[in-house]
Amino acid sequence: MNAATSTQSEPVDAPAEHLDVVIVGAGLSGIGAAYRLQAEHPGRSYAVLESRAALGGTWDLFKYPGIRSDSDMFTLGYPFKPWRDAKSIADGPSILRYITETAAENGIDRHIRYNTKVIGAAWNSGASRWTLTLAQTTPEGVETRTLTCGFLYSCSGYYNYEQGHSPQFPGIENFSGTVVHPQFWPEQLDYAGKKVVVIGSGATAVTLVPAMAERAELVTMLQRSPTWISAVPGRDKIADSIREKLPPKLAHRVIRTKNILFNIGFYQYCRRRPESARKMLTGLTTRILKDESLVAEHFTPSYNPWDQRLCAVPDADFFKAMRKGKAEVVTDHIESFVPEGIRLKSGRVLEADVVVTATGLQLLAFGGIELTVDGTPVNLADEFVWQGTMLTGVPNFAVCIGYTNASWTLRADLSSRLVCKVLGFMDRQGFSAVVPRPERTLNERPLLDLASGYVQRSIAAFPRQGDRHPWQVRQNYLLDAATTMRTDLSKTLRPVPMSKTLQQVS
Ligand SMILES: Cc1cc2nc3c(=O)[nH]c(=O)nc-3n(C[C@H](O)[C@H](O)[C@H](O)COP(=O)(O)OP(=O)(O)OC[C@H]3O[C@@H](n4cnc5c(N)ncnc54)[C@H](O)[C@@H]3O)c2cc1C
Repeated sequence: MNAATSTQSEPVDAPAEHLDVVIVGAGLSGIGAAYRLQAEHPGRSYAVLESRAALGGTWDLFKYPGIRSDSDMFTLGYPFKPWRDAKSIADGPSILRYITETAAENGIDRHIRYNTKVIGAAWNSGASRWTLTLAQTTPEGVETRTLTCGFLYSCSGYYNYEQGHSPQFPGIENFSGTVVHPQFWPEQLDYAGKKVVVIGSGATAVTLVPAMAERAELVTMLQRSPTWISAVPGRDKIADSIREKLPPKLAHRVIRTKNILFNIGFYQYCRRRPESARKMLTGLTTRILKDESLVAEHFTPSYNPWDQRLCAVPDADFFKAMRKGKAEVVTDHIESFVPEGIRLKSGRVLEADVVVTATGLQLLAFGGIELTVDGTPVNLADEFVWQGTMLTGVPNFAVCIGYTNASWTLRADLSSRLVCKVLGFMDRQGFSAVVPRPERTLNERPLLDLASGYVQRSIAAFPRQGDRHPWQVRQNYLLDAATTMRTDLSKTLRPVPMSKTLQQVS
């Protein structure tokens, strides 16, 4: 839909509170966005609305054994706050501490309103403002409140916090053991000396297997098909020596640049020379496992590296657990659960006391917020993303989406800086609302260009990207970093006029 052609306007309530900017979500992105907003627009009032009772998002939610990043923290961390821990691939609690410190050091924590879920956002072109419907959890129950704001910035991540992806496995009700989903890890789960089967072979599964293998009798990773897995150093020795020689901020910049260049180089190599990349990855794994047929059967996917996200295993911990006989991989299909475990299509029965369904996330666009523009519901799938950040048809609204082939924060931070640039542009031009003007000849593509199952299942509910800059969500930080902040906003952003009725009133 096109906001500019709409002549409807909703009745303007007299809400209790109005803020210049609302950021949705107090995760890694929301805290980073608040930092940029405070720095660039100190005069603007803002709040970070967070549905949970704590900040940190992903890094507070996931509690499964071994939870960690698979990106290095010099690029997953913020450019403005050096990563000081020894490990470059960090565990969940260290990342949470880093986010919490950033919020506290910059006074962002005072702006966070917890237990406040944004369920609806109604844009009114007449008043040039959003009315947010909030579900606020209090000791007495859930109350519905409203709040208005001039600009809405969704930093709500990309998946459903309330539900993971759990396929219906036949016979699961007959299983006599415990079934857990990594997103809802029971704190008291005791798996010491037990047989564990982890279903799946993505980042979560390859993290869980070595971590659980430390206490379990045996951990079996059950995969339908292999995934590309690469051993990486958990500690970056070059980074360590740079940190010894340079002051923290400069060292962070230098290491970050090194890692950005290395990661882009490696990604481009995988995309341009897939055969060579396949050989390199299988060669590396064979050197660690010393078993060519094992690598051919379980670690040689049919797709090419980076058609789906590549899984990193720090210090080859996953392969080391296999070599110790504490972990194994089975490539097969589930026929059904049976009381003692899982019967496979091959006829083999995998005995299990605990089954972990590492079957993935359920994608959710922009925190599930129901958007309307001048009374008309926004169908996200009809809209295009401009600069990976603003949507056609939805004024004064931006979203924070990270890279899929590199650390999330590289793109997220560029989005936040772009939002600040847009706010400055609006000030200078005297515009109270702006929306990207769609180009006519765009060829559409899905927003996330990954073949992974979890992306394919839900991508149709997301807006689309175009086939060229600035409508393409480029997976290339160097290009984005060179162009995003130089964008001539007047070429694409156009003001959203006040409706005639309100212009007459004011
Ligand atoms: C297990 C796991 C490991 C990962 N590892 C990596 C990695 O190594 N590298 C990498 O680049 N990426 C990784 N990711 C992706 C990761 O999610 C991002 O790196 C990053 O943490 C996203 O931060 P975010 O703030 O954008 O989103 P989130 O961390 O998801 O935070 C979003 C916040 O918004 C809140 N929220 C959502 N909807 C609403 C609403 N309607 N109202 C109010 N609040 C709302 C949520 O409660 C949450 O606190 C990983 C993801 C997972 C699940």
